[in-house]
Parts: sequence; C-alpha cells; structure tokens
Amino acid sequence: MSFTQRVAHLQPEGAYAVLARAQALERDGRNIIHLEIGEPDFETGTNVSLAGIRAISEGRTRYNPPAGIVELRAALANDAGQRRGMTVRPEQVVVSPGAKPNLFFPTLALVEPGDEVIYPDPGFPTYQAMIGVAGGTAVPVPLLEENEFSFDLVAFDALINERTKLIILNSPGNPTGGVMPLADLKHIAAAAQKYDCWVLSDEIYGRLVYDDRTAPSIAALPGMAERTIIMDGFSKTFSMTGWRLGYGIMPEALADRVQLLLTHSVGCTAHFTQYAGLEAITGPQGWVDEMVAAYEKRRNVLVAGLNAIPGVSCQMPQGAFYVFPNIQSFGRSSDEIANLILEEAGVAVLPGTSFGAHGEGYLRLVYANSLENIERALERIAKWRSGGVAKERS
Ligand code: PMP
Repeated sequence: MSFTQRVAHLQPEGAYAVLARAQALERDGRNIIHLEIGEPDFETGTNVSLAGIRAISEGRTRYNPPAGIVELRAALANDAGQRRGMTVRPEQVVVSPGAKPNLFFPTLALVEPGDEVIYPDPGFPTYQAMIGVAGGTAVPVPLLEENEFSFDLVAFDALINERTKLIILNSPGNPTGGVMPLADLKHIAAAAQKYDCWVLSDEIYGRLVYDDRTAPSIAALPGMAERTIIMDGFSKTFSMTGWRLGYGIMPEALADRVQLLLTHSVGCTAHFTQYAGLEAITGPQGWVDEMVAAYEKRRNVLVAGLNAIPGVSCQMPQGAFYVFPNIQSFGRSSDEIANLILEEAGVAVLPGTSFGAHGEGYLRLVYANSLENIERALERIAKWRSGGVAKERS
C-alpha cells in the first residue's frame, strides 16, 4: 500500500516500543521497573476530579465552542499572563484536547512546503512529525550538555536563514530536563526578529522547575508576543494526561485559523474536562507544590545514584521529570545500552536516539516514579554495570 508523503515518514514514539518490549518480558515472569514513559505517577487532585464529575452530572456533556468555554479561556489568559509577566487576552487562548493539537495546528497554519523549521535535537518526537506533515524541512539544532542542554547557539546561527519560518523551543525540555537560560532566549529572539520567523514555545513543563528556579518564556521578551505561540497544558502540572486538556496562546489572527482547524478536525474539547481544568488553575495549588517537591527529591536521588555508577556522568537538570545521563564511556550505542539495561537489569529506559541523532551517547530516565522504585532501579543498574547480572522474577 502506498501513502502520501505527508504520512509516510511518521514513526511511533520510541517510548511505546520500549514499553511493548518491557511488557513482553513481564509476561515471561520478569520484574521490570518502568522509567521509560513520561507520565506523572500522581493522581489528579481530588478537587479537580470532583469538578469534572460535577460537570458531567450537571449535563456539561455537549458540543461547546471550538476554542473552548469562555470561562476557561478567560481564566487561562489571566493565569498564563500573570505567570509570565505579560498581558494575554482571552481571544488569544485556544483550548485543545491535550496540548499536542496546539503544536500541530499552528505549524499547519504557518509552514508551507519548502519552509524550514528549526527544532531541538534531542527533542520531543512530535516536532519532527508535524514539520513533515506540514511539508516543511526539519532543521535540527543540537543541544549542548555543558549549557543546560540549551541550543548550541553557534549551530543555530549557522542554520537560521531567510527560509526559516518557525523556531521550536522546549524549556524545560523533554528529554533532557534542561531549562534554557534567559541569555539564550534573548539571542534566539533577536534572530527571530531579524529573519522574521515565528517561535513555537512548548512550555508544558513550565511549572516543574526546581532549586527555586523559574523557566523564563521567550514570549515575554520585547517584540516577541506577536510572533510567538505558547503551547501549554494540564497533563504534566496537574497530572491530567488522560483528561486531554491543553491550550495555546498566540496572536488573535492565528488563533482564529487554529480554531478553524479544530472545528474541522476534533470539533471541540470535551465539555466537562474544561471545568476540571478551570478548577485546576483557579482552585488550591498546594498539591501541585507537593508534587514539585517530591519530583525534586527524586531527581536528587536519581542524579546522585547515576553519578555513583562508574562511567556515567549525569547533569542536574533544572526542570521536567527527566534525567539525561551521558554514557559515552560505555563504548556502545545508546540503543544497545538501553536494550541491555532492559534485558539484563530489568529497568526500562529510553536511548537518547529516540529523540534524534544528537541523543546518541545518552539515555533518558523518567523520575515520575516512587523513590523506592528509583532506588531499586539504581541498584539494579549499578549491579549490572559491575558485571553481576541482576535478573529479578516478579
Ligand atoms: N510537549 C512535550 C515536550 C511533551 O513531553 C508532551 C507529553 N509527552 C507534550 C507536549 C504533549 O502533551 P499532551 O499529552 O497534553 O498532549
């Protein structure tokens, strides 16, 4: 069967392939610790779930406006603007089922075949997928381990040109946990203005930052709001992956186009889900702070444990819930090492190359898992590395 160029290049996310292999081992009786899937292990806050249930029982189960209910758009404009120190009008907010449509649809609205799109490598696999669907040319920029896994600005300067239509940023980033320094954002903003490009800033991990850091948004820099799309959502901050709720903030004319793409694809976002989201951003935030504190503690344990393993060198990432240890000294490909760690140590991790060619030499481990599991995983990997294979039966 032959398919269009638009879809022929699409690949599944690497995490699902590793999950399937891990589950096959589990069916054979092996005990596997899962550090491969980027999903919070906490429950959605009770107040949020109850708001969703209440909305269903009150009959909020209907079609609703494609860009979302007015109360949620207004609350998001207020919340998202305040957090970034900028003014956002409700008309700029487009609610979507999960955050991903607010990656895909602005890209479809802006990128013509032949346009170049700069994106981080290693980076979230959806970027490359959506650039391809839009017919754009994907231009990966390597990230620099020694600079918080921010853009290699020398490479960036060499790659940006008159054909560059869009620059994708992701800070805090998946898969590295890196937070881009303000100075780098200023550099990229100046280049975006010089070459008249758009910026798509994926800020879904914006509230998962540690050590009293904040993740600055490029949208708040002078002259950037009119050329930036902020993509954000509820999946990570509020442990709401399965509710499917996200949003984009963008200039109104673009918001109108994205609304039309929503109208003619998904129609609208589930009605009751949006009331749960309203409660999440306007209700008590203590449970979010507790989750962030728990992630920080887990990160510290995981990074210290990895650095204690001979040959592993792991930066202390400032955000998200990923670590990206350097395993170049192992002298084998990331893919081989990730496979061996799964098969022989019983810990599912992803090769850095699941996120692009520049992920070679690294692994991604997720710490959205209990401290107990993280400690057991570290023990297993350390034992495996020292030559004592640690296959555990479940
Ligand atoms: N951006 C990044 C960087 C992500 O890691 C994810 C989720 N894995 C998303 C976007 C998509 O979020 P959602 O599930 O809300 O669509």
